Amino acid sequence: MAQESSSINELIDQLGRLPGIGRKSAERLAYHLLRVSKGEALALSEAIRNVRENVRYCSECFNLSEGPLCSICTDLSRDTSLLCIVEQPRDLMAMEQAGVFRGLYHVLLGRIAPLDGIGPDQLTIDELVERVRKGNFSEIIMATNPTVEGDGSALYITNQLADFPVQVSRLARGITTGSVLEHTNREILADAMSGRQRMH
Ligand SMILES: [Zn+2]
Repeated sequence: MAQESSSINELIDQLGRLPGIGRKSAERLAYHLLRVSKGEALALSEAIRNVRENVRYCSECFNLSEGPLCSICTDLSRDTSLLCIVEQPRDLMAMEQAGVFRGLYHVLLGRIAPLDGIGPDQLTIDELVERVRKGNFSEIIMATNPTVEGDGSALYITNQLADFPVQVSRLARGITTGSVLEHTNREILADAMSGRQRMH
């Protein structure tokens, strides 16, 4: 097999591993990258390299960050008495884009999913409990997704926080059960935040 075709096959294989990209799309993207200017194609590979080398998890909240602490944890204008718990950095981003919350966050980096073999110890729950122990939060807001696993995670965490003198609430059910936070529009998210209900 010629050198060129094995390079192309390698690219198609790599692209095809991306979520939502089937073999046909991978081929189309690979041939697209061969047609555009070399600079444009290499800008993509450079962007991937940069994000993997420079972006890490915030040591405080586990949001994505280019430094030890993320832009939210270092923002002095945030309300440090409120802590919002989300599953993924993209959920945090959805909340921020909706502009409905001005407190701090804690990203779990997943949800408890026994069927997938994901237990509490694989998430950032220990770090969360430690933050609540040390911090002066007056309210913890559960914004896990309204799915069986998201609800189970919120309940587990509420129990872990039961001994702390802090109010725990969760987003109101404006969000349709099963829908994912990141796809929820701003109005629904704002309603869910303002109508949040006390869990503990
Ligand atoms: Zn942070």
